[in-house]
Amino acid sequence: MSMNVNINSPNVKYTDSHIEAKYSYQTTSVHRDGNKVTVTPHTTEMTFRTERQVPQLGVMLVGWGGNNGTTVTAAVLANKLGLTWRTKTGEKKANYYGSLLQASTVCIGSGLEGEVNVPFRDLLPMVHPNDIVFDGWDISAKDLGGAMERAEVLDWSLQEQLRPYMSCLKPRPSIYIPEFIAANQESRADNVLTGTMVEQVEQIRADIRDFRQSSGVDKVIVLWTANTERFCDIVPGVNDTAKNLLAAIQAGAEVSPSTLFAVASILEGCAYINGSPQNTFVPGAVELAVQRGVFIGGDDFKSGQTKIKSVLVDFLVSAGIKPTSIVSYNHLGNNDGKNLSAPQQFRSKEISKSNVVDDMVQSNPILYQPGEKPDHCVVIKYVPCVGDSKRAMDEYTSEIMMGGINTIALHNTCEDSLLASPIILDLVILTELCQRITVQPQGEEDFQSFHSVLALLSFLCKAPLVPSGTPVVNAFFRQRASIENIMRACLGLPPQNHMLLEHKLQ
Ligand code: NAD
Repeated sequence: MSMNVNINSPNVKYTDSHIEAKYSYQTTSVHRDGNKVTVTPHTTEMTFRTERQVPQLGVMLVGWGGNNGTTVTAAVLANKLGLTWRTKTGEKKANYYGSLLQASTVCIGSGLEGEVNVPFRDLLPMVHPNDIVFDGWDISAKDLGGAMERAEVLDWSLQEQLRPYMSCLKPRPSIYIPEFIAANQESRADNVLTGTMVEQVEQIRADIRDFRQSSGVDKVIVLWTANTERFCDIVPGVNDTAKNLLAAIQAGAEVSPSTLFAVASILEGCAYINGSPQNTFVPGAVELAVQRGVFIGGDDFKSGQTKIKSVLVDFLVSAGIKPTSIVSYNHLGNNDGKNLSAPQQFRSKEISKSNVVDDMVQSNPILYQPGEKPDHCVVIKYVPCVGDSKRAMDEYTSEIMMGGINTIALHNTCEDSLLASPIILDLVILTELCQRITVQPQGEEDFQSFHSVLALLSFLCKAPLVPSGTPVVNAFFRQRASIENIMRACLGLPPQNHMLLEHKLQ
């Protein structure tokens, strides 16, 4: 089902090339002096301009032969081919469930038939996932047919239908620096580049150009869905500025493969998204992206346990209930779990998962004193038997009225890669859309893009990367509202306010 959304307003102009919308951005500035809070409303007039021409999008995945890489490629193929397959519970049909843009809706208003909800993807012109062309790199040479079988995610009868297509896809050799991922990954590293660091970065750049040319796509976005790396130390003179980072690569100093990919993508003018927790975006990489006006986004797909956390803690704290302890266990049996069984790689994940409730806790000084936080503990254990079907067990303990205690225990079982794959699609499609949106504040001559650090992707990330000095929002519904309301602004529509005044007055 798709809908054609057309805005009937003198503030919105559709030209052959653009949707141009005049918009009043309403915000407040707040001055706090002890208990006295003075709030001043402001309105800024601006024009949003969205290019209507949707390009042919190419996506290059680093870690293409992994569980996520093979699953997202297979899912897109299955959707494109309209495949169906039988399981013991009946016939299944390819779909994009779990994708914000493809499988969720927004309420655009009400008419004679009541509320009208339209698919998110129909709000603005966007790439359809079926039209994405995939390519990528992996340190394992297995073709995508074999890699899909190794992943043990998709039903066998679906794999059989997909294999002829998947087997033709072969990951390009990749940059492998063993010390960054777990030692237990070494046995699959049979497809690796050699040469100096500079030569390897040059090869990745050449791969991007080659893909762009040979596939005929208009645009390429690169996304890291390879193994979680250990964190990198931020070292002055090595990775603290763009210049130093480029010099460090020349000198062959310590730079992680994910940062090398980021640098190669940025130098090719391609947006780069980090789906894993490590600190790929060292200050030098961020500076390089800003200098070149290229989007970067991350970190770490927000797929399961953390997504629930960003809903549940938001619910508790905003309902006036005080979470005092959150304990999360994970049993993971796929190759991601194997890699995370090494202490340094687990540490990257632990850091990424740990700050997710901070904004919600800090928002409520009635419940929490300055500096006070709930106890928060994250455990991940490698249990091969569960494969990709991860178990996440959480216990939330909260203080309720008059010293009462409320405990919520959750048990969540599902295929990890089937949660991450739609997020990969949302990340690249949203990034591509943002590349076609510009904003002109009133009185300024030029239209400007969003900041290179694309904070709008926060909804999809466990540890959102935001421009330095700007607030990090983890709360699920605030993140979703931000995407929805920015898209509404592109159509000259006010933010969704949920007031429903038309039904509340006499
Ligand atoms: P996976 O181990 O199945 O796949 C990773 C792939 O990366 C492997 O094929 C491996 O050979 C390859 N690889 C490792 N280093 C590489 C390099 N330098 N260059 C190219 N390829 C390289 O893991 P997965 O389940 O697909 O997860 C991928 C990443 O996504 C992990 O870091 C994981 O933590 C992260 N993640 C996954 C989820 C989820 O729900 N599945 C959620 C959040 C984050």
